[in-house]
Amino acid sequence: MDDQPAIAAAAGAGPFAALYVLDDETPGAFGIGAAQRWWLHHSLERLGSEMEKRGGTLILRRGKSVDIVSEVAAHVNAGTIHATRHYEPWWQASERALGNKLVLHPADTLIPLEEIKTSSGEPYRIYSPFYRKLSSFPVDPPSEATHRLKAPARLPPSDELTAWNLLPSKPDWASGFSVWRPGEEEARSKLKSWKEKVASYAHQRDLPSLQGTSELSPFLHFGEISPRRIWHALAPVPGSEKFLKELAWRDFARSAVLADPKIGVKSQRSIDIAWRSGSSADADFEAWTRGETGYPIVDAGMRQLWKIGWMHNRVRMIAASFLVKHLLIDWRRGERWFWDTLVDADYGNNSLNWQWIAGTGVDSQPFNRIMAPIGQSRKFDAGDYIRRWVPELAALADDLIHDPPSEVAGYPQKLVGHLEARERALSARQHG
Ligand code: FAD
Repeated sequence: MDDQPAIAAAAGAGPFAALYVLDDETPGAFGIGAAQRWWLHHSLERLGSEMEKRGGTLILRRGKSVDIVSEVAAHVNAGTIHATRHYEPWWQASERALGNKLVLHPADTLIPLEEIKTSSGEPYRIYSPFYRKLSSFPVDPPSEATHRLKAPARLPPSDELTAWNLLPSKPDWASGFSVWRPGEEEARSKLKSWKEKVASYAHQRDLPSLQGTSELSPFLHFGEISPRRIWHALAPVPGSEKFLKELAWRDFARSAVLADPKIGVKSQRSIDIAWRSGSSADADFEAWTRGETGYPIVDAGMRQLWKIGWMHNRVRMIAASFLVKHLLIDWRRGERWFWDTLVDADYGNNSLNWQWIAGTGVDSQPFNRIMAPIGQSRKFDAGDYIRRWVPELAALADDLIHDPPSEVAGYPQKLVGHLEARERALSARQHG
């Protein structure tokens, strides 16, 4: 409800129908993933009850969004349709298809991206000039939540949320997701506690054992808190600059999507890599998804992802790099796995970061910079993080835990040695 100018505009104009459409058709392969379905269920449940408390009703419908929005608009005889502007290519196409009845509101970015263009009028593809330009605009203050809603007399029918079966049942793999409480009340409370810690972000953000990041990503993705709300709460706090600069990466990822809508499926730079495929690559991929690569930092990250639908950023980088460079598996397979398992899966952020790691992005590290997982684990002091997520290794001392001896019971052998993997990756690049 907070900083949702579309809701505020609709409520300001009189009675209105609030509609959420679950559209698995329009996004194609980017339909909402399994972990996010769990989040969506709880988020809609809370949003529906918030709206009811304020006198409104949330209508739930499933199907192709353009058709359903048009149908509901006709049913309630709506003169205008208010929505938040999105940047995913399939939503942009849907927005165009709805024609001039649709009024789009900026709420998903710090600055409306239409304003952040290069001198030739194109969306930015390189972060530094993007951020310089973004910083030259003031971030608009967030709008306040609307407290009184009114539904029209004749509402169209709504689906039952439970009939959507968004929660897993057999098996219930989401029991570990109880660390999260979707919805804007929790988002506000996370922001409040983050305000006390944000000054340490610059020193702690890369240390997964300390968990020194905000954990706001799924709340941001689902619109439960707005980037402008976060910006205005934290900008006055001394030492928050590094965090705000990272928050702007989210806007940058959307700019990168505008510049190249196919960023999620197509390498931006053709670097001719002979990716591995076939049964041995498939077996390695599966071991990676299960957190059984024999590299503790990678395994800890992948198990954290499976258990709670989220992974620390530094570890995402290490685990993604391991898949692409050590296992020489196409970044798109990793992107798909993250898409299905992350509660914060986001087209721009996920695609941009995978391409950055793979060295295929426009503004990315080169492919032949190969992260050493054990070195990274030591450098960022990941011992306690590993103990938490890889219980087989919990008893190991700090000097062993990053690279355990081969006889630790129950822990797998390395899928591939670091130096061997490095050589293989470099030659795949040269001769591919
Ligand atoms: P904080 O460090 O507290 O940052 C605050 C916010 O800033 C984040 O919530 C996020 O919205 C934004 N942000 C921070 N870093 C980045 C970044 N590198 N790129 C874009 N936005 C950023 N983030 C997603 O939100 N969704 C994804 O699907 C996603 N996939 C990723 C895949 C890979 C391979 C990698 C390396 C990173 C990915 N990220 C993704 C970026 C980053 O890991 C997460 O945004 C971050 O870990 C979320 O935790 P946080 O909210 O505690 O972040």
